[in-house]
Amino acid sequence: MTERYSFFSLVRHAVNARRPWSRALCRPTLRNAYEVVIIGGGGHGLATAYFLAKEHGLRSVAVLERGAIGQGNSGRNTQVVRSDYYHLASSKFFDRSLQLYEGLSRELNYNIMLSQRGKISLAHSPHEMELARRTVNAIRMNGVDAEIVTASELAKLEPTLNLDCRIPIEGAAVQWRGGIARHDGVVWGFARAAGALGVDIVQGCEVTGFRIEGGRVRGVETTQGPVAASRVMIAVAGHSSELARKAGLRLPIQSTCLQAMVTEPVKPLIAHVLASAGIHVYVSQTARGEIVIGGGTDVFASYAQRGGLPVFEANAQAAVELFPCLSRLRVMRQWAGVTDITPDTSPIMGKTPVKDLFISAGWGTGGYKAIPAGGETMAWTLANGEPHEMIRAFGLERFTTGALVDEGAASGVAH
Ligand SMILES: Cc1cc2nc3c(=O)[nH]c(=O)nc-3n(C[C@H](O)[C@H](O)[C@H](O)COP(=O)(O)OP(=O)(O)OC[C@H]3O[C@@H](n4cnc5c(N)ncnc54)[C@H](O)[C@@H]3O)c2cc1C
Repeated sequence: MTERYSFFSLVRHAVNARRPWSRALCRPTLRNAYEVVIIGGGGHGLATAYFLAKEHGLRSVAVLERGAIGQGNSGRNTQVVRSDYYHLASSKFFDRSLQLYEGLSRELNYNIMLSQRGKISLAHSPHEMELARRTVNAIRMNGVDAEIVTASELAKLEPTLNLDCRIPIEGAAVQWRGGIARHDGVVWGFARAAGALGVDIVQGCEVTGFRIEGGRVRGVETTQGPVAASRVMIAVAGHSSELARKAGLRLPIQSTCLQAMVTEPVKPLIAHVLASAGIHVYVSQTARGEIVIGGGTDVFASYAQRGGLPVFEANAQAAVELFPCLSRLRVMRQWAGVTDITPDTSPIMGKTPVKDLFISAGWGTGGYKAIPAGGETMAWTLANGEPHEMIRAFGLERFTTGALVDEGAASGVAH
């Protein structure tokens, strides 16, 4: 029985210190058959399982994770959430996700520490300012909040920002509802809530193959034995093409490392999330005071979850260019995740040519912000056997029809 977190439960445990908190997540034993098997215990897999159980009443659901939940990109990202996308299909989808984020702590009874501090995209030339104005107009026409701020307004918003950097800053586009949310909170919140609804979250269980009969998926092979399932979903990010290949599918995905780093903690210094496509970096400050720095992907495809030194150096240089006062800080940690990048940088969601085999992939460098809406719409798709109306534009077939949703410019920095 999952205990509800509340002020009263906190008081109850404080006055009765010998009464332990119940486990946030139980450790189920893998059964040999489920209605739905979801491969990958990242945010997308867990959110889909949660919405399947909550909205569609499906309880015979398993999430199979080869390591520990959240050890993939969902626990490695820089936590930025926003919905300033250009095309209507993406705009609707990502704004739905941000709306869900706005109520997620309450929905999951788990504090995801959402901080809507504003996401600022810097423009470094009159030409970039003109592009920022056009983008802001398009985003507002999509019904999403966005506005332009001038260089003098930026100076007040971020007093330590070096407006006179290598390519001087002319102004910026801002989405005030953008910000950050604690990534472990999102993963654990969905896992705990899904587990409480009866979903089996099985860690240390790698899927090694598929059982396919007559063009229809019947189950999966795992390191803990075969599991039968009526429907299966692949949600394994950078490992999507390798796993899908085992079901006979070729995906238009390139797996490339994206890295990030944090400095030692300092007093409040950077108030917003700032991204610069011109200088190629984005920064924010965590609640603990660390400065989080991210940039572009590594320049070669790789499954090595490390990230190379040249990009690390370029990110550090670019961050110091924007905030010279960072130059004396020590970097505490650097890490990377294997991202799954599609040619149009939009996700692949929905059905596959194998009947009852579904996919949620291609999230690349920006799928964290999409976790709630990705879970909600994929759960609907699995339950109804048809793509949810909000994700129709993101089907795998667009790579044969040519109806791409090019959102390359929507990344905080170019990838
Ligand atoms: C450094 C970095 C910074 C980022 N910053 C942002 C950001 O600020 N904002 C944003 O929106 N997005 C960001 N992203 C992207 C975002 O993190 C991802 O798009 C998102 O987390 C993908 O979620 P997922 O559930 O699809 O994949 P993951 O979280 O990677 O989960 C996939 C899981 O599948 C498991 N798996 C793999 N193969 C198998 C198998 N055969 N059997 C069983 N399990 C398997 C893996 O172990 C993993 O846990 C960033 C990514 C990185 C790496």
